[in-house]
Amino acid sequence: MARRTIVKIGEDILRKRAKEVTVFDNGLAALLDDMIETMTAADGVGLAGPQVGVLKRVAVISPDGKNFYEFVNPVIEKSSGMQKCREGCLSVPGVSGEVMRPKKVVVRAYDRYGNEFVLRAEGFLADICCHEFDHLDGVLFIDKLIKKEK
Ligand code: ZN
Repeated sequence: MARRTIVKIGEDILRKRAKEVTVFDNGLAALLDDMIETMTAADGVGLAGPQVGVLKRVAVISPDGKNFYEFVNPVIEKSSGMQKCREGCLSVPGVSGEVMRPKKVVVRAYDRYGNEFVLRAEGFLADICCHEFDHLDGVLFIDKLIKKEK
C-alpha cells in the first residue's frame, strides 16, 4: 500500500465527472487500498477517486476509523428526510460549515471484486456517502454551504 497525494481545491480534476469503473482488477484493489491508507493517514472519514487524482467512480468511507466501506460506481437509489451536517473536506483545507443532506439513503454499488451490494445508511454515514459521491460528479460541499464556519 502507498499513500497518495490529496488533490486540493483549484485543481481541475475536482470539478470533472468521474468515469464508471469497467475493469475490476488488481489495479482497482490497489487503488482502494491506497485510498484507505491515505484517508486514514489524513484523519479523514471519506475519500473519493478524484481527490487522489484518479477520475474514476470510487470512494472509501470510515465514519469511525474502525469500519471501512468501499464503493465502486455508487448510485443513490433513494433518499429521504433532511439533516443539517457539519462538514469539511480533505481537498478544501481550512474550511468547514453546514450543508443540508438527506437523512437516509439507499446506495447501490459494487465492491472491488465486482459484486453488487446495497447499503442502507442514515445519519453521519448517509452524510459522508452524499459528500463523497458528490465528488464523483465534480461537486464540492462548499457549493452547498448554508453556513460557513471558518
Ligand atoms: Zn470531500
